[in-house]
Amino acid sequence: MKKVFFVDFDGTVTKTDTCSTMVQIFARDGWKELNRLWEERKLSTKDCAKALFKLFDASLEDIESFLNTVEMDGHFKEFLSLCRERGYRVYILSDGYDFNIRTIMQKYGIKDVEFYANKLLYHPGKGFDIECPYENPRCKNCGTCKKGLMEKLKGEDAQVIYVGDSYSDMCPAGAADLVFAKDVLYRYCMEKGIRAVHYSSFGDILSALAKPESTEEI
Ligand SMILES: [Mg+2]
Ligand SMILES: [Zn+2]
Repeated sequence: MKKVFFVDFDGTVTKTDTCSTMVQIFARDGWKELNRLWEERKLSTKDCAKALFKLFDASLEDIESFLNTVEMDGHFKEFLSLCRERGYRVYILSDGYDFNIRTIMQKYGIKDVEFYANKLLYHPGKGFDIECPYENPRCKNCGTCKKGLMEKLKGEDAQVIYVGDSYSDMCPAGAADLVFAKDVLYRYCMEKGIRAVHYSSFGDILSALAKPESTEEI
């Protein structure tokens, strides 16, 4: 059976979360409380981002130079090549920003990976804003509602594999056939009885794919 991978970006494709790091670097006091409310699902991604951007002291160039320091998982490119070889589709689903993804993928020379994310808007003099083209009217939390996108993109008869690390991955993880999880997401899957394989880097996922029985239908 063909596999289709849905992969989170921040903290999954990248070693660190670009959204929370840029907040820590560029936002004035007040961001911690907003982050806490978002983690507790009391504030949607969109409302949280809008409030955080009011605390921002940065230009687009500042964000771009920061993004150029962000490292990608050392095995991600190899993972993409293997998927291409075997005919597995890979989509990046992110509740972070298109600008961050585009900048980092470009730096690492990655093309042709379809991604879905919020739009980072910048108006000189006015600062940053967020637009959420993949919002789900029935969901009050996400900017990019990953579960809905997964349903739409998975196609017929494919094993749906989700890879993620954090809060915005909780909802889609519950709807996948197999989950590779780390950090917050792994603890959540254990708590909720969602079957998940722990991974630390895409190197672990490559090892699992080398042993077909470990990722077959469950
Ligand atoms: Mg993440
Ligand atoms: Zn949602």
